[in-house]
Amino acid sequence: MAQLNIPTIKLNNGRDIPTVGYGTWLGLNEKSVFDTTDLPKMVDALSYAIDIGYRHIDTAHLYRVEPEVGEVINKKIKEGVVKREELFVTTKVWHHYHREADVEVSVRASLRRMNLEYLDLVLMHWPMSISQDGVDEKIDYLETWRGFESVLQKGLVKAIGVSNFNVEQLKRLLANSKVVPASNQVEINLNLGQKELVDYCQANNIVVVAYSPFGTMVPSRAQPNSPEPKLNNPTLVAIGKKYGKTVTQVTLRYLYQRGIVSIPKTVTRTRVLENASIFDFALDNEDVRTIAQFDNGYRTVVPAFWQDFTNYPFEKRPVKLEIPLALKSWKNGANLDID
Ligand code: NDP
Repeated sequence: MAQLNIPTIKLNNGRDIPTVGYGTWLGLNEKSVFDTTDLPKMVDALSYAIDIGYRHIDTAHLYRVEPEVGEVINKKIKEGVVKREELFVTTKVWHHYHREADVEVSVRASLRRMNLEYLDLVLMHWPMSISQDGVDEKIDYLETWRGFESVLQKGLVKAIGVSNFNVEQLKRLLANSKVVPASNQVEINLNLGQKELVDYCQANNIVVVAYSPFGTMVPSRAQPNSPEPKLNNPTLVAIGKKYGKTVTQVTLRYLYQRGIVSIPKTVTRTRVLENASIFDFALDNEDVRTIAQFDNGYRTVVPAFWQDFTNYPFEKRPVKLEIPLALKSWKNGANLDID
């Protein structure tokens, strides 16, 4: 079996985070309900990922797959494939756990669902706080962050961070708290380079983790009129050919050369291997400049249905949308028994 050696970078707590991780969001289906059709495939793919050397796994309470993710991890530890301390496991706290004391409730519940003693990184999933019924609770993320500092101090987690924070929100957080987030997990791909945000994070020792690293490049994420590049983009195909790599590998390598960690999601074994086989070549400066030209600020993940909520981090759009039921009402979609 192939064996990968995925490089790591240092977090501000001195610990190492592998630069490619395994993403576990299975998404909502066309009826906006949690889609777990692919869960057995994901269990297989994650198992395989650990077998071949993935050590970083990204999940979240929201995704409703923590029990299965935890099962795979514990199985691999039991089989002797990996030790707990060699793994880097991230989960996230959802919108309705933003009161200071609720952060610990959420983290303990994640630990229980995953059957783990600690997490390597826990993120505030979004800066907004929204009740289970979809009401804006207007809880300041500074209060929520104090809850994060507390779970760190109690040793439930090795590092704390945020997700979907913009520069302004990060500045305010840094100016008003004790612990600097170890990481900010945000959308970054060839269309959305987020230069200002990445520069700010890197200057402040906050590791940037890229979610949706392929943007709308892959058919499952393609949207009407979404911009190039797609998987068959001639420029990227030609660059890939030069190094004997695929367009997705060129994409992930480009992010790696920017000092960014990626967490691509795939339930397909061959792609698990493909996505982490990016450490045996380097894009030259000219290719880097060419690839940078695809950056046009286009966002793939636009939860505009939350845009009127306090602390929504992105630019607003002239639309009025209902929150999909699955994101508004917790007992909805898959894993109805999940707490
Ligand atoms: P990705 O950019 O990882 O794209 C996933 C899609 O790409 C799937 O359809 C997958 O297909 C396909 N794919 C994966 N690898 C390849 C390949 N080598 N060639 C062709 N197609 C490929 O998007 P995600 O939105 O899933 O983001 C990744 C992870 O980031 C999530 O799983 C989650 O962990 C995290 N995330 C965090 C968010 C946050 O708010 N913090 C928001 C969104 C995501 P298939 O599975 O069928 O192989």
